[in-house]
Amino acid sequence: MSTPYAFFQGQFVPLEEAKVGIMTHALHYGTGIFEGIRGNWNEEKGVVYIFRLREHYERLLRGCRMLMMDIPYDADELCRLTIEMVERSGFSEDIYIRPLAYKSEEKVANLKLQELADDFCLMSVPFGNYLGTDTLRCCISSWRRVDDTSIPARFKISGIYVNSILAKTEATLAGYDEAIMLNQDGHVCEGTGENIFLVSGGKLHTPPLEENVLPGVTRDTVMQLAQAEMGLEVVERSIDRSELYIADEILLTGTAAHLTPVIEVDNRKVADGKTGPISKQLQEMYFEIVKGRNPKYLHWCSPATPVN
Ligand code: PMP
Repeated sequence: MSTPYAFFQGQFVPLEEAKVGIMTHALHYGTGIFEGIRGNWNEEKGVVYIFRLREHYERLLRGCRMLMMDIPYDADELCRLTIEMVERSGFSEDIYIRPLAYKSEEKVANLKLQELADDFCLMSVPFGNYLGTDTLRCCISSWRRVDDTSIPARFKISGIYVNSILAKTEATLAGYDEAIMLNQDGHVCEGTGENIFLVSGGKLHTPPLEENVLPGVTRDTVMQLAQAEMGLEVVERSIDRSELYIADEILLTGTAAHLTPVIEVDNRKVADGKTGPISKQLQEMYFEIVKGRNPKYLHWCSPATPVN
């Protein structure tokens, strides 16, 4: 049996006891930096493998610099706390781990980051298929991705997610599975919680980070695997909307979403409307790796052994 624990105000407590007050700054203004990390249950070994844990915390700490947050843990300590929380919780299934650094001051009407106290909390929940489907029908959102000149998309800032939520809500209410957002220049940017790749001319293409995309850990994983294991060229460049309609394959990538093929964009089939061969090969390789079944990439997997 699992008993979910949280790390809250410097200690491990049962998840249901971790509560903040209604005056908390982050609740009003979205002044948080969060992460989404997956733990993948490996039945043979009896461990949860946490995928690229350190890289997630390096991104979180970059976000903390942006929001002038000073949390008393470095990346090593954050990794250690996370493994301990997962072990204490006793999970023997796939999980999603949510760290959050936030402006914890119980003070409203103060917009000065430098005056507000910070805290860090951590929790995890059992987690299955995030998108609810194995292949995606997408639309182009009428909502544009936030621009670095307004609010930087390169960090996982809590408040930014209203942008994604508007796009996701619009798409799903219109009957699509997911939205693809364009940036302020009208170029293809990303999904609401996923980076995007397209296959064209036998190469992988993805927007560069300067196009207001999140530097995805899965994006980096796919780029490395495509090059090292499949000899594929990966091109980072601006992508036009109309290129999506004529792509050979399209793939969304993210911790929650894994690698999920897009089979339709704006009611136009992507190629023959089925998962393409490059997507399939990447997907198979990725699933083996995140479950800790590929020794070459075991260094990306931090084991957590459930304590019962
Ligand atoms: N873009 C956005 C907006 C996201 O929220 C996410 C999920 N973190 C991603 C891309 C994918 O990033 P990662 O592969 O690191 O999960």
